[in-house]
Amino acid sequence: MVNYIELDQALALSRNSIKENYSEYINSSFVSMLSLLNFDKYFVKAQGMSVWDSDGNEYYDFLGGYGALNLGHNPPEVIEAIDKVKGMPNILQAAIANLPGVLAYNLAQITPGNLKRSFFCNSGAEAVEGALKLAKIASGKSKIVYCEGSFHGKSAGALSVTGREKYQKPFLPLVPNCESVPYGDLNVLEDKLKARDVAAFIVEPIQGEGGIIVPPEGYLKGVRELCTRYDAYMIADEVQTGFGRTGTMFACEREEVVPDIMCVAKSLGGGVMPVGAYITTDEIWKKAYGTMDRALLHTSTFGGNTWAMAAGIAAIKSIVDRDLPTRAQKMGNYLLERLNAIKEKHSLIKDVRGRGLMVGIEFNQPEGFINKLSGGLLGKLSYEYLGSLVAAQLQNDYHIITAYTLNNPNVIRLEPPLIVEEKHIDAVVDAIDGILEKNGSFLGITLKSTKTVIGSLFRK
Ligand code: PLP
Repeated sequence: MVNYIELDQALALSRNSIKENYSEYINSSFVSMLSLLNFDKYFVKAQGMSVWDSDGNEYYDFLGGYGALNLGHNPPEVIEAIDKVKGMPNILQAAIANLPGVLAYNLAQITPGNLKRSFFCNSGAEAVEGALKLAKIASGKSKIVYCEGSFHGKSAGALSVTGREKYQKPFLPLVPNCESVPYGDLNVLEDKLKARDVAAFIVEPIQGEGGIIVPPEGYLKGVRELCTRYDAYMIADEVQTGFGRTGTMFACEREEVVPDIMCVAKSLGGGVMPVGAYITTDEIWKKAYGTMDRALLHTSTFGGNTWAMAAGIAAIKSIVDRDLPTRAQKMGNYLLERLNAIKEKHSLIKDVRGRGLMVGIEFNQPEGFINKLSGGLLGKLSYEYLGSLVAAQLQNDYHIITAYTLNNPNVIRLEPPLIVEEKHIDAVVDAIDGILEKNGSFLGITLKSTKTVIGSLFRK
């Protein structure tokens, strides 16, 4: 007899059993890490801006699924769309399905310029994989240029263009012929492109995981010009910035830039289904896959499944009908204004930056003398963990969920659903203000958090 756990039993498991299962059968180090920071609540309900833990406490979600929850948790319009199609074949590759063509049509309506043809997959990394392969096959070239500090995903191809040594090093050698340039620097990019041997330059309009880095004004326009001049495709990775997050439907629209290939994912699935896509022009697609012998060179079993497509169609309708890009701009301005005001009061805040509802708060490194006193320990702790220490206090003391950016742990990201209201923004800014006020110095905040860490070590 197989000793499986049924879904109903799973839903009734205690918090400890949940942790044990995850630790034993998935990733024990991740469980330890979250436990150390007291980041291991059990959340049982989610709706809109809020999630609730098993004790009935409400939390505001300012992490927003790393940009996957532009519509908030469990948006009813997306769930209803899935309900409508649940009797249809979800996966049936032997026929042309109805919904993929419709979602592709709708994407062509909301993406800039002549972007028209979509390929559907299941994640951001897969969208990037598809885009890189598309650029190679359509150009007949193999070199890809990417940015330092970038994040495009962790599958082998996407990782080859992700500018963080920590993620790349254990897996070397990766895909050959990928070279990096500093983000925001058009001169170095021009040097790289001059030989006309580059298939594509892949770039995030605002770097997300790099620490919410907004490039200099005119950078994307400059990138567009250089790519055109030197015959390289421009791939805009809008996986995190897309679908209204930065105040326009897509971030590259702000500089009226039309990339050759755009990658999207995250909120395309309405926060419910995993959906990714790349979108490109008719011309590039035809060069790449426009003959029958090439038609199936790049495919995905689940790509274009009915539930995912229904979610995508409903998500786009909801974002367009409610004009969420404009709302993101308005609420983002309010958030930045309030954060900049508390920055004046707290020297621990080094920088506040972002656009729309893609906002980062960078913290200062501890002062030299404190660092010396602690034998460098505080410096190390702050470098790797200060963002998460503040995030842990926000969660535990103020019931607000945030996280640090992957490539820059000293930056806390605020990427709430685009339906966020002023009262939620006031709550998060007052909470950050409160934490910094109470703890004053970096030393205070570290000691408080160290107590949490030690406390949790003893509880284990
Ligand atoms: N590209 C960007 C800009 C991202 O921010 C991410 C994820 O954070 C990805 C790609 C990878 O997406 P996924 O985690 O869905 O593979």
